[in-house]
Amino acid sequence: MQKKRHPTKYLGEEYQRLVDKSLNWELKELQSASEPLCTIDGKQVIMLCANNYLNLSTHPKIVNAMIEATEKYGAGAGSDRSIAGNMTLHEELDRRLAKFKNAPASLTFQTGFMANEGVIPQLCGRGDLFVSDALNHGSIIDGVRLTHADRAIFKHKDTEDLARVMEEAEKHQPSYKHIWILTDGVFSMDGDLAPLSRIAKIAAEHGAGVYVDDAHGEGVLGDGGRGIVSHFHLNQDQVHIEMGTFSKAFGVIGGHISGNEDVRNFAYNKSRTWLLSGGVPPGVAAACIAAIDVLETEPEHVKKVWENRDYFLKAMQDLGFDTGNSETPIVPVMCGDSKKAKELAEFIWSRGIFGLPIVFPMVARDKARIRVQLCTKHTKEQLDKAIHAFEEGGKKLNLI
Ligand SMILES: *Cc1c(COP(=O)(O)O)cnc(C)c1O
Repeated sequence: MQKKRHPTKYLGEEYQRLVDKSLNWELKELQSASEPLCTIDGKQVIMLCANNYLNLSTHPKIVNAMIEATEKYGAGAGSDRSIAGNMTLHEELDRRLAKFKNAPASLTFQTGFMANEGVIPQLCGRGDLFVSDALNHGSIIDGVRLTHADRAIFKHKDTEDLARVMEEAEKHQPSYKHIWILTDGVFSMDGDLAPLSRIAKIAAEHGAGVYVDDAHGEGVLGDGGRGIVSHFHLNQDQVHIEMGTFSKAFGVIGGHISGNEDVRNFAYNKSRTWLLSGGVPPGVAAACIAAIDVLETEPEHVKKVWENRDYFLKAMQDLGFDTGNSETPIVPVMCGDSKKAKELAEFIWSRGIFGLPIVFPMVARDKARIRVQLCTKHTKEQLDKAIHAFEEGGKKLNLI
């Protein structure tokens, strides 16, 4: 008989394989609040890789809303929203978000990942088709994988390829009942935008639905940070489901979808992540409402993140850096191979700058980069210090 191995032994072996290939995550420890100047692993550094674009995670109105609601309603919702945990604050948040999004209805989830993983699998089944941008987020990919629907991929942002895929799909299978086109709004590795108007037009020609994941666009794009649908002046008859998160520019946590009433009613009756998992704590719901308030009443935050982004992007381009196809406060500093990206990250870290190296397999082997994310409260001095560190490191590594 084969000698029995400990059941978890292969887990350690798999981890070791990742370490050997330098593919393991080395977790850094954030020892202060997420601020432009923060303490990580005992070192004071300038943060260049947080999703906290508007620095709302420490906004006093939002923090106070969380404390007050927690004192009044407790630490937890006590149940799934579907059963006994649907608090007034959850309903208010759904309504406030819909109003902010100029949508008939919204539904909030525990996280953005759970929104995608809950809603997408319910949209299509056998005899239906998902059509997906090649660079979509993992939560969209996982959502699609939970279905028996057919899948087709179009080249990143390539609407000619999308049109070709749609035509071929219809030729091959004229009986598809439902077709949904799925795309990120802002692509998180490159900071580029989905061509949403053209996607919506192609979808309309084929009677397909459009689902956009705007996790990195909200709080940044569109009128007052209303996101990519607002940015392109589209509505819920053109982009049928707009998904997003409270964990990035809103500075809290939570996911959401917006659309018409049918979308909301369908989503909360069918999505298993919504039905079978606890509602967010009342403090979280109150903080998300306060974050919407802040976006509606303090437009300066969105304006400032763009100023910082334009300043940083121009300085880096003037130095000769390749900044890819950035159209947002996500600015990739292209390095080529993974080794260079890691060396550059280590160099700027030694100068007190925290920028995240993004390497294979997250991006193609020759497209390793440092992903920089600008935020509202970066000061000019902090940005200059970062730019100077990049300049020194870039010269050392022959990138500029
Ligand atoms: C971050 C992100 C998500 C997940 O959002 P969470 O609320 O953090 O779970 C989904 N899609 C995209 C494109 C993201 O960038």
